[in-house]
Amino acid sequence: MVLHAAGEQLRLDEVPAPEPQPGQVLLRVAACGVCRTDLHVVDGELPNPKLPLVPGHQIVGRTDDGRRIGVPWLGWTDGACRYCVSGRENLCESARFTGYDLDGGYAEHVVADERFCLPIPDGYDDLQAAPLLCAGLIGYRALRLAGDAERLGLYGFGASAHIVAQVARHQGRRLFGFVRRGDEAARAFVLELGCEWAGASDELPPEQLDAAIVFAPVGELVPAALRALARGGSVVCAGIHMSDIPSFPYELLWEERLVRSVANLTRRDGEEFLALAPQVPVRTEVEVFDLEQANDALDRLRRGEIRGAAVLRV
Ligand SMILES: [Zn+2]
Ligand SMILES: [Zn+2]
Repeated sequence: MVLHAAGEQLRLDEVPAPEPQPGQVLLRVAACGVCRTDLHVVDGELPNPKLPLVPGHQIVGRTDDGRRIGVPWLGWTDGACRYCVSGRENLCESARFTGYDLDGGYAEHVVADERFCLPIPDGYDDLQAAPLLCAGLIGYRALRLAGDAERLGLYGFGASAHIVAQVARHQGRRLFGFVRRGDEAARAFVLELGCEWAGASDELPPEQLDAAIVFAPVGELVPAALRALARGGSVVCAGIHMSDIPSFPYELLWEERLVRSVANLTRRDGEEFLALAPQVPVRTEVEVFDLEQANDALDRLRRGEIRGAAVLRV
């Protein structure tokens, strides 16, 4: 399924299978998760994607000799810049990203640099494993950057939050979930996932929060989350794109509150999270689409209609 120009529907194209270059592995794709970032790429909210482009960066595939491998968003780094050499390859200035700079997994085959591929834990079928590869591991990085916060707020209950909630409960944190006002199905889902309170995103929780993670791409949620924080608390923005953040009084930031973003992932994040997931154990809830239904999956994600994570079956 190929993006030819931002803002257009993906097209089902017949193209030659990609040829692996030295260091790359050729995979037959079994499943590919649909991420909100794919939507930002398709809608033209992220600059300069490769075009034409095969989107998708939560790829579960198999090599010719039957090994099962995961391909995440971070597809290549230079290994030499100041960020790479200081253990921050997620910030590499020359990084190439799967399904953005490199063709991704909305396809029958994909090639990937084997150094950036990840092991898929046993006990997950292909469809359930796919959302671990971005929703899970970037969510995990966001959770790590929230520090040791005991009272954690989650804003926006999509694929990532539904995984992070399980990990955070496993770590013994107390959870407060925020959804769109009036979305009763989302509120019920939030409570099922172990939040002790679920409310609308413009509501204040019954207690102040030590940290909040904002998954929804909605700038208004940043001051809303700051308002819910205790002194010294953090707001972590987990998405790659967000609408503008409205101005807010300095008193919301005062008392050492912090606003920060999370960008991409390191291979270490991936290895840590994929080792942790089966211990929790994280159970992913997936809505499955056939490859040629990728546009439907993106439309449903855009409208906020996916419960858990959308995954393409290839
Ligand atoms: Zn670098
Ligand atoms: Zn993603």
